[in-house]
Amino acid sequence: MAGIPSVTINRKAEDRLRSGHPWVYSSDVTARGSAAAGDVVRVVNARGKAVGAAHYSSTSQITLRMLTDKPESVDRAFFRERLARALDFRKEVVRDSEAYRVVHAEGDLLPGLIVDRYGEYLSAQFLDQGMDRSRDTIAGCLQELIAPRGIVARNDVPVRKLEGLPLESEVVSGEVPSAVCFQMNGLRLSADLLHGQKTGIYLDQRENYLAVARHAHGRALDAFTSTGGFALHMAPRCETVEAVDSSAAALKTGAAIRDENGIVNVEFREANVFDLLASYSAAKREFDTVVLDPPAFAKSRKTLDSALRGYKEINFKALRLLRRGGILATCSCSHHVMEAMLLEVVAEAALDAGKTLRVLERRVQAQDHPILLTVPETLYLKCLILQVL
Ligand code: SAH
Repeated sequence: MAGIPSVTINRKAEDRLRSGHPWVYSSDVTARGSAAAGDVVRVVNARGKAVGAAHYSSTSQITLRMLTDKPESVDRAFFRERLARALDFRKEVVRDSEAYRVVHAEGDLLPGLIVDRYGEYLSAQFLDQGMDRSRDTIAGCLQELIAPRGIVARNDVPVRKLEGLPLESEVVSGEVPSAVCFQMNGLRLSADLLHGQKTGIYLDQRENYLAVARHAHGRALDAFTSTGGFALHMAPRCETVEAVDSSAAALKTGAAIRDENGIVNVEFREANVFDLLASYSAAKREFDTVVLDPPAFAKSRKTLDSALRGYKEINFKALRLLRRGGILATCSCSHHVMEAMLLEVVAEAALDAGKTLRVLERRVQAQDHPILLTVPETLYLKCLILQVL
C-alpha cells in the first residue's frame, strides 16, 4: 500500500471498525493528509499503525468506507476477486431466476457498489466517490466474469448528491434495449434498465413473491405493486388481483408483463394507496389477500416516528378489508424500522381493527441481497405474512 495517502482516525472509529462495521464518520477523522475525492487511502489509527484501506469521500459524512483490513493493494485484481466471490455466492443461492443482485454493497464487502443482473445485461449503481472513480475498472472486470451484452450505470440515485456526484443514467458498455427480457420464477418479465425504478425493477422480493403466492387466495389486492411482482405471482392462486401503484410507467411495464404471460385476472390501477384503502374501507369492500409493500417511509432515524404512524395507518386500513382466513403480507424496506417495531405496529393496527392475527412467516430480502451480521443496514427488508383468525 505504499504511495497512497494516509487518513488518521480516532479511537472511537477504530473500535467501531473492530466491531465489524466498515464506516468511519467525518467527526472521527483526525487527519486527512493529501487524500482527494475517491482515493483509495491507507487508514491509520491514533498510534500511527495501519488498520487497512478504504475509499475516501471528500464530502460525505461517511468519510471512509473500509475495503480491507489486510495490507493488500486495492487494485484491479482486488476488485476482480471480490466480484468473482460475489458471483460464486449467487450460484449457490439463486434458483429459477435470470435476474438477481450480483453485488449488494457492504453485504459483499464492496461498499458503495450495487450490481444487478437482468439476463444478458447488467445494471449497476456507483454510490460513492471511490466506486464512481473505479467505474471503468469494475465494468471491465464484470465484462470478463459475466460477458454481458451491455452494462447500464444507474447513477440517478439521490445519495450521490452527498458525494457531490452528478445524477445520471447511461449505458457504459455494449448496447442495451429499452425492454430487457428475462425469466424469474417461471414468469417472463421485462425491465427498462435506464428508466425503470431502482436498477430496472425490484429484485429483493423475489423469494417473497413465491412465499406470499403459496398463501394467497380469493380476491387479492397488491398495494404498491410497481411492475406487478406480487400480483403476477399470486394470479394463478387467486380469483382476481387488483394491483395498485402511483407510477404510471411502472404500471405500464406490469401490464405488458401480464399480457406476455397470458395472465387475465390481474387489473392494474393508478391510484394513491392511502386514498384507495380509505375509499374501499368506507365502501366496505372485502378482500381475502392484501399485500402492502410501500416505499421506505423512514429514510432516516429522525422520521422514524412519523414512518411508524404511516405503517400503522396502512396496515389498519388493509386489515379492515380482510375477511376471516384472509392473508396480510406486509413489508417495510426501511432498515431503521426493525422487525420488532413492524410487528408492534401491525399488532396495534390489528387490535384497533378488531382482528386477531396469526404469524405465518417472518421473512427478509432474498438471499442474493446478503445480510452482514455486524452491519445492521444490510438487513433492510422485512416481510410478514399473517392470517386473520
Ligand atoms: N411491490 C413492488 C415494489 C414496491 S416499491 C415490487 O415487488 O416490485 C414501492 C412502490 O410504491 C413504488 O412502485 C412507488 O411508485 C409506489 N408508491 C409510492 N407512494 C405511493 C402511494 N402513495 N400510492 C401508490 N403507490 C405509491
